[in-house]
Amino acid sequence: MAASDEFEPVIGLEVHVQLATRSKAFCGAQAEYGGPPNAHIDPYTLGLPGALPVLNHRTVEYAIRMGLACHCDIALKSELSRKHYFYPDLPKGYQISQFDQPICQNGFVEFMLGSERRRVGLARIHIEEDAGKNLHIPGGRTSLIDYNRAGVPLIEVVSLPEISSAEEAGEYLRALRQLVRFLGISDGNMDEGSLRCDANVSIRPRGSRTLGQRTELKNINSFKYVQKAIEHEILRQIDIVQSGGRVIMETRGWDAARGTSRSQRKKEEAHDYRYLPDPDLPPLLIDPLWLRSIAETLPKTPMQRRDQYLERLGLSPYDASVLTAERELCEFFDRVLIAAGLPPEPTELTDAQRTRAKQSANWLSSELLGLLNKDNRTITESPVSAESLGELVRYISDAVISGKQGKEVFAKMYESRETPTDIIERLGLRQISDPEIITAACRKVVDDPAMQKQVEKYKQNPKLLGFFVGKALAETQGKARPELLSEIMLRLLSEK
Ligand code: ADP
Ligand code: MG
Repeated sequence: MAASDEFEPVIGLEVHVQLATRSKAFCGAQAEYGGPPNAHIDPYTLGLPGALPVLNHRTVEYAIRMGLACHCDIALKSELSRKHYFYPDLPKGYQISQFDQPICQNGFVEFMLGSERRRVGLARIHIEEDAGKNLHIPGGRTSLIDYNRAGVPLIEVVSLPEISSAEEAGEYLRALRQLVRFLGISDGNMDEGSLRCDANVSIRPRGSRTLGQRTELKNINSFKYVQKAIEHEILRQIDIVQSGGRVIMETRGWDAARGTSRSQRKKEEAHDYRYLPDPDLPPLLIDPLWLRSIAETLPKTPMQRRDQYLERLGLSPYDASVLTAERELCEFFDRVLIAAGLPPEPTELTDAQRTRAKQSANWLSSELLGLLNKDNRTITESPVSAESLGELVRYISDAVISGKQGKEVFAKMYESRETPTDIIERLGLRQISDPEIITAACRKVVDDPAMQKQVEKYKQNPKLLGFFVGKALAETQGKARPELLSEIMLRLLSEK
């Protein structure tokens, strides 16, 4: 947080998300990341004369998924436009994007900032295509171009200027990453550039309603630097204003190695791009029935999961955030709950069932995730299946085994991939809950003639109960449920 009582920062983020489609946005070339340079190209990617665009259906579907998950208005009619600029990474001389009729407008993204629930409004989400990659050979006079990335579909998520600290910007970006991964539309990997963020930053006198002049920070290519770059820019602007200067509208490039930014160019205006509807692409019309089917099959968002875990299951906010980190983890947890014997959603849970849900969350988040982290494994690589973990929780809550035995069984499950049932049988761990068997064991102890002196002593000193319980437990090879055994022993002794 920039230290100033006088000024407050205002931040708006433009986030590019590379969509995980198989082919590119407007042609059949592969969209996959990497590969030998210029392996994923075709006449359209290279902008060869006569090559015409065909819009990839999946690109539109993914953009709609994101729009719906962000509560946007989805336009049944939108437009694909040419945005002109000349640079070698863009062979056609223009990028296909959306201008004044984007596919999604308005909406918001929700996320947690510490314990506070925050909501940042969106201006729009639009579809566009990515550019190729320039590789400038250091020191030399040579630049190489790889067009593998040219034409890969992107969505650009444009926030309103509603973010009020560098920390909040970081959390917003993390929330977007988590969301696209839950929706299955992108891997959200910032290192490979599937998530890229430009930060618009301005400052204004604290409490003011009008926006200050902004700068645009580019080239923030890792989560680590988002916060740093914005913090640096806030301080830079405060410094300028406090020393009597004025912030100018410009694009600045973040230099992570130096921890500073430098001016790249005066910012261009929309008219510099000569936007025009792409004459080779008809207006983008969305069939309302298709839109409905996308909405109906939309996976739950991390925030919806979180609410469900807090309200339906009664989990702590901490457990809820641990378990909603990844979609695979949520799905694993869902299966644990079913295997633990809980009814599926939306059935409301009884108190006992909520307790069982909390136990399941505990076993997953502290025990299993603990071991997986230690071994550098993800949940999908877990040697303990969700079904086995749920079964274990059930054995413990049905008192077939004790909690302590549970830990022992769990360790073996992790080691050998055996099911809890097999381990419990093999080790003969099953607890005895049958009152008749337990009563018989207790009687054997209290009726033993050699014990009568102790029984007399007990009448003076009830603390000796433990002694009798221990003896009777030994009669059952330690398998009787201790609480039940104590209860029965107490009754038998009081009858003496
Ligand atoms: P452009 O495409 O030219 O960068 P937009 O109008 O689409 O411009 O805005 C881009 C981003 O800049 C948006 O995320 C918006 O929230 C943010 N923004 C606009 N004005 C300001 C401001 N004064 N301070 C901080 N962010 C701003
Ligand atoms: Mg911009």
